[in-house]
Amino acid sequence: MATDVVTMEKIVSLCKRRGFIFPSSEIYGGIGSSYDYGHYGVLLKNNVKAQWWRSLLQERDDVVALDSAIIQHPRTWEASGHLAGFTDPLVDCRTCKLRFRADKLEDGACGRKPSKRPGETSECDLTEPRNFNLMFQTTVGPVQDEGSVVFLRPETAQGIFLNFKHYLQFARKKPPFGIAQIGKSFRNEITPGNFVFRMREFEQMEMEFFVPPQDAQRWHEHWLKERYDWYVNLGIRADHLRLREHEQDELSHYSSATSDVEYLYPIGWQELEGIANRGDFDLSQHAQHSGQKLEYVDTVTGERYIPYVIEPAAGADRATLAFLVDAYDEDEIEGETRTVLRLHPQLAPVKVAVLPLVKKDGQPELAREIERELRERMQVEYDEGGAIGRRYRRQDEIGTPWAITVDHQTLEDRTVTLRDRDSLEQVRIGIDELADELERRLRAPWRSPKLSD
Ligand code: ATP
Repeated sequence: MATDVVTMEKIVSLCKRRGFIFPSSEIYGGIGSSYDYGHYGVLLKNNVKAQWWRSLLQERDDVVALDSAIIQHPRTWEASGHLAGFTDPLVDCRTCKLRFRADKLEDGACGRKPSKRPGETSECDLTEPRNFNLMFQTTVGPVQDEGSVVFLRPETAQGIFLNFKHYLQFARKKPPFGIAQIGKSFRNEITPGNFVFRMREFEQMEMEFFVPPQDAQRWHEHWLKERYDWYVNLGIRADHLRLREHEQDELSHYSSATSDVEYLYPIGWQELEGIANRGDFDLSQHAQHSGQKLEYVDTVTGERYIPYVIEPAAGADRATLAFLVDAYDEDEIEGETRTVLRLHPQLAPVKVAVLPLVKKDGQPELAREIERELRERMQVEYDEGGAIGRRYRRQDEIGTPWAITVDHQTLEDRTVTLRDRDSLEQVRIGIDELADELERRLRAPWRSPKLSD
């Protein structure tokens, strides 16, 4: 594997410098582990989410969409097991006053120098593990009394189970079928950190795929492959991606089998997405707690069963971070170091930049004309400020795959140069062919140039 120049510090710094992601509430000194997405960050994350929707809703006919509420009936969380089980046992160290997850002691660094692990030396004085609830609690209505306590959802999945019945009744869905949604989730994480990798407020992309129980394992394998391929097809290098099966003692209370898609972040191999076989746990629990029947009945054969559920649960922020990390590169052009995001063109925030070589002789006007026309088909940026080399670098840094330069020849023969971010190749092409050529390139299969042949 080639050595990677990327570090988390470089990603954080690029994100801030170029307006992808900012620390939240910075003018008040910031608030830990909250981040705001700026212009390019919104465009990039939107593209990630759009590709996820596309792979489920457009490229298949067995998945449908949902957008459920963040605040749900509080009994949802009794039934799901989150009120009782959504806790991580914690220990406090009386010596360094820091708090650690009891099951992750080996990952933590304790407050003493030189760097030590909690429990590693005789100075460590750890409390017994205690349980904390990770759900954010709030109240509905202006009066704070017992009856009005609600929770911000810690995962989007439960909204899907609560609506399962509607899809059987109104959409006449028959297993196997999936319901997908993207939305914000909230967890009072004990050890948030590593930029947008672990936040208290984050966005999930979750799908529940309902199947006849006897087919669950086959569908689990199907979704493992589908989800792994999704990342690879969007440019993540396969040698930085792996599937890891959970050990028996790692499994959540609801799961009979889970595998994680893991990505090799600069902080090591970490979970990008979990793909679980949840069995009939959720539908059975909600049926029991609500008194409603949540089962599939075949009106012709009379067959009835509670479907099993296969759940690919991804994080939009973790995926965005993985795409940024995987794309980050540095090379040398004319003796200068260039920072470049080698993003898959489908994910790139801006697809093409339109640049007049000089700010006179009718070049800006013609460039504006080209920009207006392309804008109808894709995300375009116009830039006329500074030397052309500097403008290329600015686009390279945000991952724009192509740049169009309007020069004196353009005014004579209506041709422009089309520059490629990765190969740096420049070809001369007629203005009338531009939009079709760019769309052809956008649709073409793509492979990270960071991969050696
Ligand atoms: P971890 O073990 O890293 O805490 P998890 O197993 O609790 O993750 P899931 O409950 O399986 O996570 O959630 C599905 C996905 O949601 C994760 O794979 C991740 O991409 C995303 N996710 C979960 N927690 C966070 C968080 N605090 N910040 C950002 N993304 C998150």
